[in-house]
Amino acid sequence: MPNLRRDPILDRWVIIAEDRAKRPRAFTSRENFAQIDPDEAEQACPFCPGNEHETPPEAFALRDHAAEPNAPGWSVRVVPNKYPALVRESVASLAGETDVLRSLANAPPMPAERSVYDSAPAIGVHDVIIDTPRHVTTVGELTAEEFALSLAAIRLRLQALAGETGINHALVFKNVGTAAGATLDHLHSQLMAAGTVFPLVAGEICGAANFYETHGECLFCRMIQLERINGSRVVAESAAFIAFCPFASRFAYEMWILPKLHASRFESMALENLADLASLARSAIAKIERLFQPPAYNLVFHTSPFDSAAIEHYHWHIEVFPRVTIPAGFEWGSGCAVNPVSPETAAARLREIDAH
Ligand SMILES: [Zn+2]
Ligand SMILES: [Zn+2]
Ligand SMILES: [Zn+2]
Repeated sequence: MPNLRRDPILDRWVIIAEDRAKRPRAFTSRENFAQIDPDEAEQACPFCPGNEHETPPEAFALRDHAAEPNAPGWSVRVVPNKYPALVRESVASLAGETDVLRSLANAPPMPAERSVYDSAPAIGVHDVIIDTPRHVTTVGELTAEEFALSLAAIRLRLQALAGETGINHALVFKNVGTAAGATLDHLHSQLMAAGTVFPLVAGEICGAANFYETHGECLFCRMIQLERINGSRVVAESAAFIAFCPFASRFAYEMWILPKLHASRFESMALENLADLASLARSAIAKIERLFQPPAYNLVFHTSPFDSAAIEHYHWHIEVFPRVTIPAGFEWGSGCAVNPVSPETAAARLREIDAH
């Protein structure tokens, strides 16, 4: 049973989740994968059609009307993570009663410790969203139509979670490649949702609210205007979306994708914009994949908490961080990133790459 603990110095929450260490690691690098017969890989892959019994029963799926749940015939499948870092309240109370050893490990701090140490059961949702029944390993290998369907499933899942009590924020992310933390090759996203807003998004909302208070406009909308005027950091643009390398990029080739019109939540996006987003994001990410082989990157969706109505000061976006360099002593020790490639150089190189 995972456990939330608060760092009393930095007021920062950590999830202690020992079960995560039991995850299988299969076909994690492209080189290993290339040596495996593709049919054999699909037979062994828990995310391929025909192996639906190897995942927990699906939360929902986009599938042919005639097809049965937990059987082939789906286009996008959403299942609970088998090794969750956040669990439903019902599971949490069950685990506490039946698993003596773990409930000891997760016991609340001793009375003498409580003024310093704070902990709570890690309650929430941890889903896996399998983008496609095809055994592909990167976003660039999806068709724009497949990516649009996967984004549609994420949108529906967020809309469903927005109505759940005890859930206030969700982070959707993708780990592509072993170096980016992927443990299974078959392309998928994860969704983690909890009662509190995850710290990085909370920090962004706070910074954006301060800017709004002083300047009376959305900071992200202002950044989009500036990037379009300047142009040197823009990677690609479509009718409704823009991709650029942010001014203070933390990582080499870091790229953000935002709607050009103000919108604070991903799940409120108009359905007619899904195809535009899928097409722009897929080709912009494929550029990064062409530059670095084997590809290794993370993709995260930053969107408003569920408890607020649409807000004027926060603007949803997707962040992509290629794993080109490994954060080392200075970065971990100081909390300050050192980026060896300027966003202007990165965007110029990415613009030159033809990826459709
Ligand atoms: Zn597969
Ligand atoms: Zn905005
Ligand atoms: Zn962000």
